[in-house]
Amino acid sequence: MKDTPFSDLTLFITGPTYVRPQVRQAGMLPEFGHRDTENTKRFEPIMNNLKTLAGVGDDHRVIIFNGSGSTAMEASIRSLVADGETVLNVSVGAFGDLYHKMAVVNGKKAVQLKFEPGRAMELSALEAAIAEHRPAVVTITHNETSTGVTNDIVAACQAIRKSGALALVDGVSLFGGAPAMIAESGCAMYSTSTQKSLALPAGFGIAFVTAEAVDKAGKVQNRGHSSDILGQLGRAGKFQTLTTPNCTLANQMCVELDYIVNEEGVANRFARHVAMRDMVAEFVAGLPGYSLFAQEGFRSATLTTVLVPTGVSVKDLKAVKEVMRAKGYLYDPGYGKLNEQFEKEGRQPIFRIGHMGDITPSMLKAYLKDLGPALPKA
Ligand SMILES: *Cc1c(COP(=O)(O)O)cnc(C)c1O
Repeated sequence: MKDTPFSDLTLFITGPTYVRPQVRQAGMLPEFGHRDTENTKRFEPIMNNLKTLAGVGDDHRVIIFNGSGSTAMEASIRSLVADGETVLNVSVGAFGDLYHKMAVVNGKKAVQLKFEPGRAMELSALEAAIAEHRPAVVTITHNETSTGVTNDIVAACQAIRKSGALALVDGVSLFGGAPAMIAESGCAMYSTSTQKSLALPAGFGIAFVTAEAVDKAGKVQNRGHSSDILGQLGRAGKFQTLTTPNCTLANQMCVELDYIVNEEGVANRFARHVAMRDMVAEFVAGLPGYSLFAQEGFRSATLTTVLVPTGVSVKDLKAVKEVMRAKGYLYDPGYGKLNEQFEKEGRQPIFRIGHMGDITPSMLKAYLKDLGPALPKA
């Protein structure tokens, strides 16, 4: 192959994530026809292993969308919110805001319930918003990647269901790293993607849908084509995608999901993420002036947000990024828009450590050992 100017950095950002050498190699497996029996050899185990990882049974169906997490989320809005109905979008950060934007730009009647950055969804506020707006559909983020907060979606979805509304969950940065609680929550559709805690390249949106969602979609007009979960399910029933899939990614996904379910084991994978969250918490506790940003009790297992000491600026964090690049890492200087807002308000910015997917505790240990000295002193 011709030389490229590309650097082989280990990604400690919050997506896309580090891809294991074995999964890179799986990108060399043969291309195939997506309406051929070769397709079934990939997508039948992919869909079955996704259900195992999700902890769901026959009550749930899996859809693989070409696109990304946003594609699945937008399909949930287009397929499950009827014109004239109210959708309530619960937001604890930038990705909660994104779900709201998707509802607005698709012409839905959308209202938003927002919480302060770093805080989790509060049940009493959700219940009050449901009573006030009487929504037919409520969306909520499982793991807010801009702030490092994991919401209690079981409590949220139970309140949503009790009101008679459908719950749609954005599980993009959590799925594959922590229990998705899909069956336990009773959400109608749970969306995720390949390039975060599944440790694959980007390219597919993934959704789990219930019979309730299928019923509802039948009553919604103008669901579009690739955003129509009913059209998607027609193909998913044959272990196919509605539109031509990325064969390279399908091969990699088949290999990776087999590894997750049959080699590493789902429970071990989730335990590894919790152990890495605790490692980062201990690291931050040892950094004078630095502190954990996300609300205690709701801290994500897949990424950690760190509040920097007074006097440390976004510009300083961008300099840290270059120091870490020279050591072979891609460091995450925080969610851009959020840090801009913080600086305008005279507050300190935050940076993020992604510890999702196939990052191991020993890789993380080495990263933190280099990161400590690279961070500005308080
Ligand atoms: C990354 C992310 C998205 C967007 O997903 P894409 O796959 O980039 O479309 C949505 N929600 C959350 C919580 C995310 O982390």
